[in-house]
Amino acid sequence: MRAGVIDGKQVADQVREEVAREVAALKERGLTPGLAVVLVGDDPASQVYTANKERTARELGMHSVLHRLPATTSQDELAELVTKLNRDPAIHGILVQSPLPEGLDMDAVVRLIDPLKDVDGFHPENVGRLWLGQEGLVPCTPAGVMRLLDAYDVDPRGKHAVIVGRSNIVGKPMAALLLARHATVTICHSRTRDLAETCRRADILVAAVGRLQMITKEYIKPGAVVIDVGINPVPGYKRRIRGDVDFDGAAEVAGLITPVPGGVGPMTIAMLMANTVKAARMQTGM
Ligand code: NDP
Repeated sequence: MRAGVIDGKQVADQVREEVAREVAALKERGLTPGLAVVLVGDDPASQVYTANKERTARELGMHSVLHRLPATTSQDELAELVTKLNRDPAIHGILVQSPLPEGLDMDAVVRLIDPLKDVDGFHPENVGRLWLGQEGLVPCTPAGVMRLLDAYDVDPRGKHAVIVGRSNIVGKPMAALLLARHATVTICHSRTRDLAETCRRADILVAAVGRLQMITKEYIKPGAVVIDVGINPVPGYKRRIRGDVDFDGAAEVAGLITPVPGGVGPMTIAMLMANTVKAARMQTGM
């Protein structure tokens, strides 16, 4: 039997509708959630991502600003903009698009963002809050994965979750979220021995590696839930993307699986919008 396919577009649409309703209700009470997106340089992929974020926020009724800075921007100039946005009462969420051009220090910029406005959830205070089980802003992609699991009634409690990838933006926060929901969590990375064998023990397998279709059906326990975070270009095709999981093979074994595109990807922007509303509420007490 082939795996059920998790429809990330549909769940992302639901999240966006919820956000639009919340924004409308807040506006009636005099609060318009505001998002500032900062793009430094002219990386083509970043231009598309930031334009989508700015547009989606506007479509959902928020105040939305895109700051475009040249690649020659200095650390001080970028810091000055972030400080200004921290003080701006119309802005509740600040996102600095990565990667920054060479010579600029992303960690230093993230540390400058007011943790209450850190809608990416990358500030050390929010990272700490996540691991301590305290309320805070949670990174959008792993938050989106949790939302997908909930939408498909996958309860992580007592399950063995294996995450391949230990980045600060996906793998580690994913582990914290699954642990908080009572999964037994294993984090794998490039030095993990017997990767396939470890993955085969997973009830929930999350691939966040950045290697085209490296997770084949041999890595998957029959009936497992497979979440593919990877976004990889396909050599020889200009616009085609595929995940870290070999979808066709994996779907023969898994119980549920996310496609790429159309799985985790659409959730990331939707959760950014939800985070901006959450940030606006936290800052105003509404
Ligand atoms: P990183 O490159 O920061 O991290 C990749 C991780 O995979 C590292 O921990 C690395 O291990 C591990 N890894 C690399 N090769 C192997 C291997 N052969 N075996 C086991 N582990 C390995 O990537 P990100 O976390 O930023 O992103 C991962 C993927 O998710 C990318 O394809 C990215 O494009 C995508 N992505 C998608 C998003 C979405 O919205 N859907 C959002 C963010 C990312 P080590 O630490 O040892 O180097």
